Amino acid sequence: MIKGIPVFMYHKVSPNRVEGKVEKLRVTPEKFDRQMSYLFNHGYKTVTVEELINFCEGRLPLTERKIILSFDDGYRDNFLYAFPILQKYNFTAIVFLVSGCIGSVSEWDEGGAEPLLNWEEIKEMGRGGMEFGSHGHSHRLLPSLSGEEMRQEIEQSKSILEKKLGKAVKFFSYPWGKFDERVKDIVGSCGYRASFSTLPGKNGRGEDPFALKRILIRGYDSRLYFLLNLKLGRSRI
Ligand SMILES: [Zn+2]
Repeated sequence: MIKGIPVFMYHKVSPNRVEGKVEKLRVTPEKFDRQMSYLFNHGYKTVTVEELINFCEGRLPLTERKIILSFDDGYRDNFLYAFPILQKYNFTAIVFLVSGCIGSVSEWDEGGAEPLLNWEEIKEMGRGGMEFGSHGHSHRLLPSLSGEEMRQEIEQSKSILEKKLGKAVKFFSYPWGKFDERVKDIVGSCGYRASFSTLPGKNGRGEDPFALKRILIRGYDSRLYFLLNLKLGRSRI
């Protein structure tokens, strides 16, 4: 067992096949239910991102069987399929929303755009204990932008989400997982407390709060991969 808190990164949870690259990131509701059931039956508890940071910064002891479930992009199926399953096991999750595309479709998905959550669905998930973070305003590749454009993507999404949700939005997830020092600095200076990357592994003591690690859960991952991800923070030995 590697010490630290794993943050699982999901995208779509849906029974329906989709066109394009996002299909490999689609987990069926049956599989998602089996994964949640495994966590529940083995005593795992979901923690908030705030708690994760307290663990990383040494204010809380690192205990076993803590996990964070995260969803990137805010697909509508997160409400339709993932949310009821999370509630069944009393789990919470953080969903990273693209503020300029709420209620619309994921135009950035190559080969086919997928429906995204609308505000009503987001609010209902919020009432059910789900957290929300920002995934930028229009899912642009941040390191390729000028400082001004970058600040707009990062700052605008925070203020739009905060206004609609009526609460602080403190966490960010880098679109496409791409960031550099400049991006990190701007995310910090826009008032976010932490940001999630797609670097694999668990988060331990002293982890950089602006490069938190996550474990990608893919649709075709076997049960063995799932267990390796959970125990080791990666699916390859
Ligand atoms: Zn994304």
